[in-house]
Amino acid sequence: MGGRSPAVARVYRGRFAPSPTGPLHFGSLLAAMASFADARACGGAWLVRMEDLDRPREVAGAAERILDTLRAFGLEWDEPVIYQRERAPAYAAALQALDAQGLTYPCGCSRAEIVRLGRMGAEGPIYPGTCSQGLAPGMRARSIRVRTRAQPMHFTDRIQGEQTQSVEDSTGDFVLRRADGIHAYQLAVVVDDAWQEITHVVRGADLLGSTPRQILLQRALGLPEPSYAHIPLVLDDRGRKLSKSLASAPVDASDPLPAMHRAWACLGQPPVTGAGSPAAFWKRAIEEWRIERIPRRMSIGPQRLAPVDR
Ligand code: GLU
Repeated sequence: MGGRSPAVARVYRGRFAPSPTGPLHFGSLLAAMASFADARACGGAWLVRMEDLDRPREVAGAAERILDTLRAFGLEWDEPVIYQRERAPAYAAALQALDAQGLTYPCGCSRAEIVRLGRMGAEGPIYPGTCSQGLAPGMRARSIRVRTRAQPMHFTDRIQGEQTQSVEDSTGDFVLRRADGIHAYQLAVVVDDAWQEITHVVRGADLLGSTPRQILLQRALGLPEPSYAHIPLVLDDRGRKLSKSLASAPVDASDPLPAMHRAWACLGQPPVTGAGSPAAFWKRAIEEWRIERIPRRMSIGPQRLAPVDR
């Protein structure tokens, strides 16, 4: 796995950022394949970042197993894998930079209090700003939040199109450091995408609603904004998202081609014929890849998961 090419570095640097909370399932495979194909079709670099910040949810051995599965699927990364558990000093520095601008504050609210007081938003209760003017007497700081603004954030997603969201109205001031001391995903992802010089993010549509929070942090920290593409989520036969924590069936690393063909069809791409190995699959697939063919939808149902004969 070679070094960074400066010519490519400016053009396209993509990434796949799994959380090691279980083996790679089909929905994650889709995100890995889409980000890989898009990077390679653009002559870009493709990196892997292990998002192992949430130690309590981590499953022992999952990170190694995910990497083995990616290899089995011919998904080869270009630089050493980054592990978020080693990056706490960088997240702390970013938190400090936000604090120096007066953009953060300690919050003493418990989850139960926020559920009781906050309006319900698409991603849970909206923080009502209880601690934004200081902790009430006797209250102990638990988490650290960032001050958000009412003004809408805009971005154009390469798949889902124009997006507008006021972070204040949809989530409110969000957590940057959790009560257990762990830095929040929203902060870590922004710091690491910038550190790894990611230019293009291709990931699941469950994170479309997080993107305005990430852009807000990028702007506050003076970091570049990557371009975003959110692929549809794959739902199971009961209309639920396939996710690792629901212990969905892991993809079979000993027989990758059937899942690769199914994933490729889910991504709206034309069939790849006559490929006897993942390497041969990619050789043809990358030439054919067009991100415009991905269905402009937030989710796709199980009918697309039917076996594909090759
Ligand atoms: N670690 C996240 C996940 O596995 C993905 C984060 C991202 O792609 O920004 O869902």
